[in-house]
Amino acid sequence: MRLFPRIFQAGLSLLVLLFALPVARAQKAPIQITADLSDVPRKLLHADVDLPVTPGPLALTTPKWIPGTHMPSGPVEEITGVVFTANGQTIAWRRDDVDLYQFHLTIPAGVSTLHAHLDCIVTSRISQKLAAFEWESLLLYPANTPVRDIPIQPSVKVPAGWGIGTALTPVSSGAYPVPAPGAVTQFAVTNVEQLQDSPILTGEYFHEFPLAPEISPKHYIDVVSDQPEDSNLRPVVLASLSNLVRETDALYGSHHYHVYHFLLTLSDVAGGGGLEHGQSSDNGVGEKGFADDAHELRESDLLPHEFTHSWNGKYRRPVGLYQPDFATPQQGALLWVYEGMTQYLGNVLAARAGFETQEQYRDRLATTAAILDYTPGRVWRSTEDTAVAASVVRFYTPWMNWRRGQDYYQEGQLLWLDADTLIRKLTQNQKSLNDFEKIFLGKGGNTGPLIVPYDFNELVQDLNAVAPYDWATFLHDRIDKINPHADLAGIGQGGYKLVYKDKPSATQRTMAMMPGARFGGRDCWFSIGLSVGGDGSISDVRWSGPADKANLAPGEKIIAVNGQIFSAEKLHAAIKAAKGNSEPIHLIVQADSFVSMIDIDYHAGERFPVLERVEGTPDYLDDTTKPLTTPEKAPAEEKKPEE
Ligand SMILES: [Zn+2]
Repeated sequence: MRLFPRIFQAGLSLLVLLFALPVARAQKAPIQITADLSDVPRKLLHADVDLPVTPGPLALTTPKWIPGTHMPSGPVEEITGVVFTANGQTIAWRRDDVDLYQFHLTIPAGVSTLHAHLDCIVTSRISQKLAAFEWESLLLYPANTPVRDIPIQPSVKVPAGWGIGTALTPVSSGAYPVPAPGAVTQFAVTNVEQLQDSPILTGEYFHEFPLAPEISPKHYIDVVSDQPEDSNLRPVVLASLSNLVRETDALYGSHHYHVYHFLLTLSDVAGGGGLEHGQSSDNGVGEKGFADDAHELRESDLLPHEFTHSWNGKYRRPVGLYQPDFATPQQGALLWVYEGMTQYLGNVLAARAGFETQEQYRDRLATTAAILDYTPGRVWRSTEDTAVAASVVRFYTPWMNWRRGQDYYQEGQLLWLDADTLIRKLTQNQKSLNDFEKIFLGKGGNTGPLIVPYDFNELVQDLNAVAPYDWATFLHDRIDKINPHADLAGIGQGGYKLVYKDKPSATQRTMAMMPGARFGGRDCWFSIGLSVGGDGSISDVRWSGPADKANLAPGEKIIAVNGQIFSAEKLHAAIKAAKGNSEPIHLIVQADSFVSMIDIDYHAGERFPVLERVEGTPDYLDDTTKPLTTPEKAPAEEKKPEE
């Protein structure tokens, strides 16, 4: 945060640009790093690193706090085979006693280049046929130095015949995107900050597609898959992606990259999710993740979300989340902007670009709002605390709804919907959050990759520039305070209300069919308060709900319902049958090695959230998802015969 004191807010963005240039580049020879990915199928990566050094003590480090994960997730425990040599001699090292990411060496007289070899054991984002390689697995560089001041030149070697997708600039001819067997692909000199932000996608079944060719700078999606047919994306997906590029161009009015590459793996074993970068994003979905409309619906906001991070998160970053190195802890207090606003914009852009319909957007929003409204942990923990504690609440735990998780994502989604519809209401729909984004994310105009920190006051100032209001109180009330109920005001201002019906929406039915759906297993959550799998396993129990009052616990398994062996259908039939009478739902439940009889005293029937239009009110909610550009239509797909 010391790098950009108030200069930016004073509008001197040119100074910021000048500061951003890696000044050390001209003075120091770059580190040379060659990442050898030929052993990807065995889940081993290798690197040879040549570092310019001077005689005397030297501390080298690997990255610890990884941007975008908001955690100390650098894989130091998986780094192995570390050997240092210089002038043909092995040089001894000792790990730092406190900072376990650091290696201490003494460089002998007469040595100007230190060679390091290291390997990394990698278990995620990797399969027999592909890898999404993040450089923190193999990076080694001088400790206690701002990472953007360390010049480095990367090269990469991949298995024969595999393609390469990356935002790095290739400088070796004929070695990109599909290098000749054994060839090493060299990239232009960059700095350690940018290299960590520039992953390499590689795979046997590789496709690179240009997107929205009329938009400058250039955008591509690089796709690798475990099965040969999957990486050849359907025309309808490519059309939505080109629409996404046009929609973001129209929404943000600026960009902060020289080129943008969506990197996508399609694999059932390589793991998934998304990790944002300034000029690319690392996205992983299942093998068939984009193979048909139903699978695509589940992933609809993934690519829009990660793309939006190039503006919100990468270019504009909360002061506490931007540190000059990867050793200083990142502070998450403003993650409800970094992630929360991205969650809102990613979903809005998914609908605008055609990854989902307006109705599907509303159905998914209803599920999100209902889950937050039925998160009992909100009576003790604020949304801000879920952000401050982001690095320790990231992973799933039983009783998650009582502890809370990374709720700042979805809380932020509702908050920014509230702000968007409020601006529309205050300005008779003349202005919207679109105007705020242009100001907040577009300061400085078009730039290359750059990080410009902000604080709470700047948010308030930019919101006031769009529509004068007491935005500081608006934000504090929703973020810092304990709110027993979710922020449903945006839905109301948008012309809808959250209601519960006795049948799931078409979107919920489609999502529930997808294995591992993000909000799957919630079909009994708003009724008896159970998240239960198809085999009867209870993954969570809603705190103070009917199942909690009946003493059920996460980890238990329902064996029988009303005297019959468990199935999801039998459980739903029992919830329906108990409606309006006094007979409880009878269960036989296994807990560890014991079995017991449990009665749930619940009689209000099935409950599925949906948004219902309030007639006679302005329909701002649907205005938020209208495209800003003319959407490209893909050629109609051949209908497959019904099976
Ligand atoms: Zn994100």
